[in-house]
Amino acid sequence: MIYLDNAATTKADQDVIDSFVKVNQSLYFNPNSPHQAGLQAEQVLKQAKEEIDSVLNLNHLYHIVFTSGATESNNMALKGIAYRKRETANEIITSVLEHPSVLEVMRYLEEKQGFKLKYVDVKSDGKIDTEHLKSLMSDKVGLVTCMYVNNIMGQIQPIQDIVNILKDYPRAHLHVDAVQALGKVSMNLNGVDSLSLSGHKFNGLKGQGLLIIKNIQTIEPVVHGGGQEYGLRSGTVNLPMAVSMVKSIKLTMGRLDEASRKLIKMNQSVRTFLEEFRGVYINSPKDSAPQIINVSFPGVKGEVLVNAFSKHGVMISTTSACSSKRGKLNEVLLAMGVPDARIEASIRISMGVHTTEEDIQRFKEVFEQVYEEVKELLK
Ligand code: PLP
Repeated sequence: MIYLDNAATTKADQDVIDSFVKVNQSLYFNPNSPHQAGLQAEQVLKQAKEEIDSVLNLNHLYHIVFTSGATESNNMALKGIAYRKRETANEIITSVLEHPSVLEVMRYLEEKQGFKLKYVDVKSDGKIDTEHLKSLMSDKVGLVTCMYVNNIMGQIQPIQDIVNILKDYPRAHLHVDAVQALGKVSMNLNGVDSLSLSGHKFNGLKGQGLLIIKNIQTIEPVVHGGGQEYGLRSGTVNLPMAVSMVKSIKLTMGRLDEASRKLIKMNQSVRTFLEEFRGVYINSPKDSAPQIINVSFPGVKGEVLVNAFSKHGVMISTTSACSSKRGKLNEVLLAMGVPDARIEASIRISMGVHTTEEDIQRFKEVFEQVYEEVKELLK
């Protein structure tokens, strides 16, 4: 099986699994318990956060909260920040590019909580239009949310340009969904107020997430209970998850340069290969993150292509459909002005740090076979 759906999830590294098992066996204590074992667990939790701070160069500016994944982190951050700012700055800015774990929160805040939601325009290269963002900004804006790397197309957003725009608006909190960025591109987090991460996207475990937030005074807790994790995420801390997540972050950051070099090389090789096929379009902009390549075969539906590849043992993905006024067309591609026929026919190939040259070679062979199978249908 050739696995090229790493943007959906990745295979956990054995060291991460081992660390999870080991901590479950030997350090199953509650970090909040007052006895010696509990104090030991508390110490390990503290150490885990120190290590994240150091490996991500956070310079002790942020609070680190362990969550069950980025969906939870995004929900906690976006709702919590919006609620805290309700009286003073109730406008929120986002874009249609965001993952549903952001967009659905945005819609909820607008429709059920009365916040004023504004969408920043998207340019044809898939980046948000920073000039439009400037024109939307005012002292009423309490929250701006923008992903680092898009999960459908791979485009990298100009986070530092956004930081610069927001400097004139101290009330505006900048939240970044960095799920698809960690371990693939080098991130500059200067000026970012909070960010979400998800372990299973970088060879950690499913159910491992982080919310990293600068100032906890700016966020209203949405999970109430025993007051763990600075009162933001009550519930017994999952220490085995926390420790093994640190392991996966350290592994990921330790191999970042090597991984990004390898991914860039494989990306170029796949792009050069695809360019030879008449009727096949590469939708991902050239300067996208290297692990994601979005491609269309107009005339053949994405699901049909995914099935065809799957039959040959290659796992890729359709461009996940989301709610759109135009049926099931993906909003990310729509926003970039990709024609409808290409959107319906789009697939996502996503590589990971463990993808090999042999995997890519096999993918190319299968691609040729699938192309032959569907060639007559191409528009
Ligand atoms: N944000 C982005 C950009 C994603 O790609 C995903 C996962 O698909 C998520 C958030 C949600 O992450 P999780 O599966 O950890 O909830």
